[in-house]
Amino acid sequence: MVPMLRRNLLNGLMTAGTLAGLPRTQLPGAARTTGGIVLEGPAPGQPHKGKVLLALQAHSDDIPLMASGTVAKLIEEGYTGYLVRATNDDMGDAPGLGTAGTIGENVLGNERDNARIADVLGCKRHFDLNYNNHRMAGVSLNELICRLIFLIRLLKVDTVVCWDPWAHDEENPDHYTLARAVEAACWMAGRAHDYPEHFAAGLEPKTVRDKYYFARRPEITRVVDISKQIDKKVEANRANVAKGPAGRLGSRLRDELAERNQRLPLLGDDDATADRNYIREFVMVSSRELGRQYGVEYAEAFHYVAPGASGADRDARVETYVTEHAVPLTKPPK
Ligand SMILES: [Zn+2]
Repeated sequence: MVPMLRRNLLNGLMTAGTLAGLPRTQLPGAARTTGGIVLEGPAPGQPHKGKVLLALQAHSDDIPLMASGTVAKLIEEGYTGYLVRATNDDMGDAPGLGTAGTIGENVLGNERDNARIADVLGCKRHFDLNYNNHRMAGVSLNELICRLIFLIRLLKVDTVVCWDPWAHDEENPDHYTLARAVEAACWMAGRAHDYPEHFAAGLEPKTVRDKYYFARRPEITRVVDISKQIDKKVEANRANVAKGPAGRLGSRLRDELAERNQRLPLLGDDDATADRNYIREFVMVSSRELGRQYGVEYAEAFHYVAPGASGADRDARVETYVTEHAVPLTKPPK
């Protein structure tokens, strides 16, 4: 992402304000509705134990900025999490945002940052697909789909978090290419005839059940309360040192001010405090604004695709009908 686009992103999330003020109904468990939008709150215990989450990003800053609170929340609530980064981030970031460097330095810096992000969010493991930054429009879509199908089957993925393949205002080819491939892979991974060599190698078909899609201008169907995970979201963004817009900008600003014999109380007395407080104040503004609209402290917005909504699943209406109408099978007397 680049700085101007990030600002557009914030504006996009602000438009969610049009949804504020709608009636809210308390539902049992973790979800409440605001109009037609589900507000996913904290779930007690570990209701997702045994399930697998795959968080996919094109670049090292995508998940931290857009969905790291939700990834951390789902892992805390029982998911086993994995992080995929599709590019090698070799184009770095806009001047002044991340760490200035050569293409090679960008690759190494982001590789290290991304590994740290996976740790901060509690992921069991991460995978770098190593495509060139800004060049994914030229990647074979079938190759990318196949790699993702392999990972979905290998890890037995139940839920994905990724860019929305159907969103508007997306300019970055890495974002929409990855998103399109993820959408196809979630469906195809569950089929019995695609890539039979996977089955020969011991894998089985695996259908992804639900999807949390994020976007610059999201079609919001679910808002996740990440108030409890905000410290992890701040840390995930603090790990984006090679890329901005978080990383070490706080301590850098603190140093600049000191050279002018000035200080900001916000930035505290040490570099880590300066970075954390800078991120919380300036980078978390969209999460805070969105949360305010939904009556929580911090939130993230998604186009959520529920189980049963995709073509890979058995029609949810059939499942409902069976649940409501099935009766015991009466065996004929012998
Ligand atoms: Zn990106």
